[in-house]
Amino acid sequence: MSDECLFCKIATGEMNTEFVKTTDSMVVFKDINPHAPVHLLLVPRKHIRSVNDLTDDDKGLVAELIYEARELAKEFNVHESGYKLLFNVEYGGGQRIFHLHLHLMGGKKWG
Ligand code: 5GP
Ligand code: ZN
Repeated sequence: MSDECLFCKIATGEMNTEFVKTTDSMVVFKDINPHAPVHLLLVPRKHIRSVNDLTDDDKGLVAELIYEARELAKEFNVHESGYKLLFNVEYGGGQRIFHLHLHLMGGKKWG
């Protein structure tokens, strides 16, 4: 937990965020500025700055994030039409919140 981290605060419930799903290892909520009709953020409870900071111990967590995204794509009915899973990595990669998160975006045609 980092005191200044927005996603740590969201994950602990401090921000009264409405969660789509919670598990022992992550929380899932809707992006405040959606880029698609379905835009979810899958956020580990553990504070990890970015993909660059993953360690061997986090391999299971990464698998869980991707597997959970697969389940959510079905729940939100975008699994057949298709969807994007995205990790932005560091500022140049578009990351603005420096707490690891996986974007799930669907319900839109990207061509
Ligand atoms: P990044 O650019 O770091 O990969 O993605 C951060 C995402 O978090 C952005 O898509 C942004 O809209 C979203 N976001 C930032 N602050 C909040 C917030 O307070 N609540 C929610 N639900 N989403 C947020
Ligand atoms: Zn954090």
